[in-house]
Amino acid sequence: MEDLKIVYYPSPILRNKSKNIETFNDKLQEFIDKMIDAMYKYDGIGLAAPQVGENIRLFVMDPNEGEPFVYINPEIIWMSEEKVKYEEGCLSLPGIYAKVERPAEIKIKALSREGEVIEQHLKELAARVFQHEYDHLNGILFIDRISQLDKFLIKSKLKKLEKEYNKQNR
Ligand SMILES: [Zn+2]
Repeated sequence: MEDLKIVYYPSPILRNKSKNIETFNDKLQEFIDKMIDAMYKYDGIGLAAPQVGENIRLFVMDPNEGEPFVYINPEIIWMSEEKVKYEEGCLSLPGIYAKVERPAEIKIKALSREGEVIEQHLKELAARVFQHEYDHLNGILFIDRISQLDKFLIKSKLKKLEKEYNKQNR
């Protein structure tokens, strides 16, 4: 398997709803390892499978720069009423940052890379990164969740990414 390449906005791959993973074979394990490598290589704290071209429900994250976590077929089963605003960025939208309001805490359920059930209560940056990556699996980008003013402010940067994408994919 070759090294993974980042899929950039506005690729339609980023807008698809990803499919559940049902087979936990060696190919999947190899793909997960490549995703973890890619996350560190590109200096991200999270990376979802659609961002490297696969519309499958899987992401990796390392919000506290400690160890990589792998989530397969994740679900958010509870969200706190308390919300917080925090600046986000995305490897698929280089150079773009904006504040996104999200629930401060969540409870999640997912499968580990071995296919075992994981249940966690996430707070702070872990909760934020999880929600950002989870959105990727449903074709949602953080720019979909920002204020009208911020949308206006990043407009020219988005246009630039669109032009670049069209040049690469002609
Ligand atoms: Zn992202």
